[in-house]
Amino acid sequence: MNTFNYIDGCWVEGQGIDCITVHDPALGVPFAELMAASTAQVDLAVTAARQALPAWKATPASERARLLHGFAEQLTARREALIALQMCNNGKPRHEAEVDLDDAVATFTYYAALAEQSPASNREVPLAVQGFTSRTRLEPIGVVGLIVPWNFPLVTSAWKLAPALAAGCTVVLKPSEVTPLAELAYGEIASQIGLPAGVLNIVNGKAETGAALSGHPGLDKLSFTGSNGVGSQVMRASAAHCRPLTLELGGKSAIIVFDDCDVQQAVDWIIAGITWNAGQMCSATSRLLVQEGIADALLSQLQSALTQLRVGNPSREEVDMGPLTSQAQWLKVAGYIASARDEGLRCMAGGKAVDRDGWFVSPTLYVDVPASSRLWQEEIFGPVLCAQRFSTEQQAIEHANDSRFGLVATVCSNDLQRAERVADSLEVGHVWINSVQAVFVETSWGGTKASGIGRELGPWGLSAYQAVKHVTRCLG
Ligand code: NAD
Repeated sequence: MNTFNYIDGCWVEGQGIDCITVHDPALGVPFAELMAASTAQVDLAVTAARQALPAWKATPASERARLLHGFAEQLTARREALIALQMCNNGKPRHEAEVDLDDAVATFTYYAALAEQSPASNREVPLAVQGFTSRTRLEPIGVVGLIVPWNFPLVTSAWKLAPALAAGCTVVLKPSEVTPLAELAYGEIASQIGLPAGVLNIVNGKAETGAALSGHPGLDKLSFTGSNGVGSQVMRASAAHCRPLTLELGGKSAIIVFDDCDVQQAVDWIIAGITWNAGQMCSATSRLLVQEGIADALLSQLQSALTQLRVGNPSREEVDMGPLTSQAQWLKVAGYIASARDEGLRCMAGGKAVDRDGWFVSPTLYVDVPASSRLWQEEIFGPVLCAQRFSTEQQAIEHANDSRFGLVATVCSNDLQRAERVADSLEVGHVWINSVQAVFVETSWGGTKASGIGRELGPWGLSAYQAVKHVTRCLG
């Protein structure tokens, strides 16, 4: 069977030219193959979404909410299978795969509730001028293309799919070619719970399929999560049609540790921020800024903790960190490690591949990394942490903000007034104080500067799929 594309309510074989090979990164061996959708099939998917739009738009919000609850319930029913798939195809340790599943369920549940509330639809707007009334309608933006990466496939797709459906949009989703199987669950669930045909379409494929979707004239909006390079390309494609887009791009985020912190607690936060998902997180806190007073003690404790992490095959062992998800990513990280060697950076941990099959990298720490180093400036997307020391609060803020990216940051300090002050000064979309990578569906997600345009999650995530309309009536 090779029916990995879900178009107009039917599972269809890909008719493109690309063959997608799906790997287990812990072994470096393939376990599935599928054919990509052709450009003509992308066109069919957009057409199906267009045809389904009027009826889906007119579907009462309560019914849309019921179906979104159905997604949450059916994800839960598939829990074990989806956790196993995340472990096998992404290389995630079990506890991480569980968090992903829970996150996707919470996202569908949250947007089901928001759909039920229909916030501010048909709200009267008070006018200063007499003789008129005006009301606001929040309407679905239309047919949306969703293109996602491979690092959190269930989650990233849920963050787009749930609000888009809640808003009344119809969707064409393109998963990553590295992890094309996870999102098939959304198609199976759509079919099982009776989501009308054409409301959700899934086309699998590589760059060509993504480009066919992002450049398709039949879309009303594109929401993209991925690299800055491809982000620029999809931005150009949207510009050609003068249509809106949301971009969730890369990061090079700072974790700032002041010298009033408990060193062991700070080490735990630092490790979580760079080794969760083997560092393959847009929000990885990959630049450590540590205050001089505790720098030596903290770096030496960090070195020993990183060296003791259990790195291995999540499907066979109890591990803290799995492999990188693809060979391409492994080669990219290996390139940065070679670059660090050329630059003469001081390595306190890791700095090498793990001697076993699969695409493993040891948790790596470089210290006293100059701001001019490409390892300090560029997103590596692996378990590679670069550290610098600072002396004053102002210096910490300046160093943290000295980046083209602006996704997230973590501030660790027992002086909460200072922590809040620093948080307010950081040029990012989300700051965690004395915590790390704590993402809640009610709070926003997205970056400033080169980290993206727009916000996901919370009510902002729903607004991203709504168009504001006013109906103004003359009373005279
Ligand atoms: P990528 O940009 O290579 O691919 C992302 C998606 O775009 C994939 O589905 C891919 O097939 C598709 N694509 C590739 N070429 C295309 C083209 N020309 N036109 C349209 N689509 C195309 O990114 P990746 O390697 O899959 O993911 C890693 C990147 O994603 C990192 O930079 C990471 O920071 C970023 N990311 C950001 C967030 C966020 O919320 N800001 C979350 C996760 C990942």
